[in-house]
This record gives sequence, structure tokens and C-alpha cells, in this order.
Amino acid sequence: MELKAEEIQLIVQQVLENIDVKKLSRVSRPPVSGGDCGVFKCVKEAIDAAYLAQRDWVNNYRLEDRRRIIEAIRVTAEKHAEELAKMVRDETGMGRYEDKVQKHLAVIRKTPGVECLTTDAVSGDAGLMIEECAPFGVIGAITPSTNPTETIINNTISMIAGGNAVVFNVHPGAKKCCAYCLKLLHKTIVENGGPKNLITMQEEPMMEAVNVLTASPKIRLMAGTGGMGMVNALLRSGKKTIGAGAGNPPVIVDDTADILLAAKEIYRGASFDNNLLCLAEKEVFVMEDAADKLISEMEKEGAYLLSPDELNKITELAMINKDGTYQINKKWVGKDAALFLKEIGVCGCRNTRLLICDTDENHPFVQVEQLMPVLPIVRCRSFDECVRAAVKAEAGNRHTASIFSKNVDHMTYFGKEIETTIYTKNGATLKGVGIGGEGHTTMTIAGPTGEGLTCARSFTRKRRCMLAEGGLRII
Ligand code: NAD
Repeated sequence: MELKAEEIQLIVQQVLENIDVKKLSRVSRPPVSGGDCGVFKCVKEAIDAAYLAQRDWVNNYRLEDRRRIIEAIRVTAEKHAEELAKMVRDETGMGRYEDKVQKHLAVIRKTPGVECLTTDAVSGDAGLMIEECAPFGVIGAITPSTNPTETIINNTISMIAGGNAVVFNVHPGAKKCCAYCLKLLHKTIVENGGPKNLITMQEEPMMEAVNVLTASPKIRLMAGTGGMGMVNALLRSGKKTIGAGAGNPPVIVDDTADILLAAKEIYRGASFDNNLLCLAEKEVFVMEDAADKLISEMEKEGAYLLSPDELNKITELAMINKDGTYQINKKWVGKDAALFLKEIGVCGCRNTRLLICDTDENHPFVQVEQLMPVLPIVRCRSFDECVRAAVKAEAGNRHTASIFSKNVDHMTYFGKEIETTIYTKNGATLKGVGIGGEGHTTMTIAGPTGEGLTCARSFTRKRRCMLAEGGLRII
């Protein structure tokens, strides 16, 4: 059969129209070797693989693909939330299983995806300008021991939603559960058609790996979640850094507060996961008139009030005095309240979740971030004294604070003085991170560098596109 030139042209045109260009470009992806579901022996390989994956992610996948893959990540992570909570509890020996399940569910359900990548537009006589949220590229993410897999899930959703790949350096004390979690998410990404190695880590986390990450030209941004030593090290590296550091959140209870509510909420917040959250209530400043009632209501909630002698024994356990300055004894971080009591010979209080103590503002439990279910309560003669003491204890971290009050002037004044990233009124500080409160959830609260409660938008850079001469404008 002979075909005419027009017929051949038509056939060619139809074939070309049916070719999936996206598929072709995926076939021509550069090959990636090594790694076991994103877990690599060497950090350099983890970086190289993530670099290739990011180029693929940003060039060959649409926003709809990001949305679909993030949804699949949520489904997988939710299926494994209880298992992950148990693994973290077993490996780190810190916190409470049931609260860890809650933390996992919060990050899985309430970490925003691509929906928070909004475009700004200005349309005027001189044309049309749009500013969009573009990826940084590959991000190096340092994660803590206190919310290890929660941070991996949260950072993965936020960072890949922004079009990035990520190389994690996890805390050595949580390396097994982190590798397990990363592999689960990695498998989900690949099974749903996403690129291999979009999320990677080095199997054996090391401090030197952090230096390799900060020195690599392929890493365009560092995101550090943990103590101030780590955040400051990243900031000194010269690499653009989003730093989420320590807090020591004070709570003020004034003489207008609903004391029953305050006792209930503070008990819940300060005992949640044995006070491991950086944003959990760490010390209370209460006006004298309200103090006895607050303490007795907290006891009714289930708190155990330490005697001065018991407090001394617990301080000796939990704090190390180095030439007059106190540091926490890491052995006791995140341990159950009942274990503290058992260690000092107090029996019969197996069910308490929180120890409270009546102390002065200079006590190390007030001034040092201790991540333990031990909550000091300081009596103050006036509201001004509460504010002054709270600002001192918060120590410029600008992390989290809360107040229980019905006095709007008090609420406003404290908010202005304390300058924290999260400020909760009449509720547990947990609510400030979306756990039982409005707003999204994150495990990376970037106070020091100012991004606040991070989400996908925080891990993008702004790029402007300007169409001059009024083109495309319809008015
Ligand atoms: P950590 O600082 O001991 O460790 C955090 C991470 O940093 C780990 O991966 C660790 O290996 C690494 N690291 C530690 N020192 C480093 C250094 N000098 N250089 C490079 N990397 C270093 O913290 P942690 O005990 O795992 O977590 C608890 C701390 O993290 C608390 O201070 C808590 O307030 C803070 N935290 C803050 C947030 C937040 O969102 N702001 C969230 C969770 C935890």
C-alpha cells in the first residue's frame, strides 16, 4: 500500500502526540547507584544521590505529583504511627508511647504540603510581576533525639513539597528508628512513581558528616533541629541555615486566671511525652494569691508535690553542678515521673505523670532547660515580677511562653516583653503547635533564624518573574 506524503505526515503527527514526553525524560534520568532505600554508608554518596533525585523531582514532576506522593506518605506513616512510636520509645528510652503516637499523628495530618506554596502577584501599568516559591535544591537536615521520626516525617513533607531533596543527619541515639522511618517513606515515594533517593541519610550519623554537609556545594540550605550547640555550629558554618533551637518556656498564672483550667492545661502540657517537647511548659510563675490553689488543683489533676528534701534528691539526680553552673544529666531526660520517685525511695505513686515543686526563681530547674517531667512553681508578689522572672528564665531563646489570665492588658504586656515565636493564652503550649489547637504542626520551630513554625514555604526561596509592557494583563 502506498501512502501519500500528507498521510505520512498525519501519522507522524499522531504518533508524536501520543508520546508521553514526561515518560521519555524519566527514562533518560542519570543512573543512581548504592544506598538501601535512601540509607547510605557514606554521606557523600547520600548527597550525590539526593542531588540527582532533586533535579529529577523539579524537572520531571508536576505539583500534582508532589501532592499525590505526599498524600501517600501520610497514609504509610499513619499505618505505622504506633509502630514508630514504640520503636522510638524503645531505642531512646525517653518519653511516653501514647504521647508519641499523638505526636506522629499530628505531624502526619497537620504538616502542610504544596497548598502553602502561594504565589504573590502585582499587576499594574508597568506589567505583571509574580513571585513564586522555588526549591532551594538539596537540604541538609539535622534531627534531634527527642522527636526523631516525627521530625523526619515533618521535614520530609515540608521539604519535598517545596521541590527539594533532603539528606538527613540524625541523632546517634535514634539512628535505627530514623533509618527504618526513612526507608518506609522512601519506599512509598518510589512505589508511587517518585524518584529514588529524594530523601537520604548516612547509616551511621557522625559529627563529621555535618561538616561534609555544610561544606558541600550541592547542599544549598541547612535545617537544624536540636540544641543551641548544633544550631550555632550550623550558623558559624557560613551555609544558609534554618535553625530550630532550645527553649525554656515559662508560664505565667495571674490572679484573674481560671485556676482549674490552668491546672488542667499545665498538667497536660508539662507531662506530655515526659516534657520532651522544646515547647512544653518548663516553669511556672504564679501570683501569690493564686499559688496555693494552683498547686492543690494540680495535685488533684495527678501531680505529685515534692517536699524540699525530695526536691534536693531529685536535683542531685537530674542536674550536674560544674563549678557553680548546672547542666542536665542526660540519663534522666524524658524519664517517667514514677521512675524519679522510685529512685529517691518514694513508693506508691506509679500513676503520676508530673512532679511539681514550690521553689524560688534561681533554682536550676527554673533556669536550665531540663526536658523532664519536673515542673518548678515560683510564687511572685506582683504581675511585673512574674514577667521579669519569666523573661529571665526564657533567656532570649524567643521560643515559647504562655499565660493564664483574663486580663487583656496582662496578656498583651507579657506577649510584648517575652517576644517568643509561640505564645499561648489559656491553654497548654501544645496547642500552639497545632496539637489540640488551631494552625499547622511542625517539629522544626525556627526561633533563632526567624522562620517560626516551619512549613513547605519556609524551605523555598522567592523567585520573581516580570512580564513588562502590560502583556497578559486583562484590565
Ligand atoms: P542535640 O543538640 O543533642 O542533638 C540534635 C542534633 O544535633 C543531633 O542530630 C546531634 O547529632 C546533632 N549535634 C549535636 N551537637 C552538634 C554539633 N556541635 N555540631 C553538629 N551537630 C550536632 O539535641 P537533642 O538532645 O537531640 O534534642 C533536644 C534539644 O533540641 C533541646 O534543646 C530542644 O529544645 C531542642 N529542640 C528544638 C526544637 C525546635 O523546633 N526548636 C525541636 C526539637 C528539639
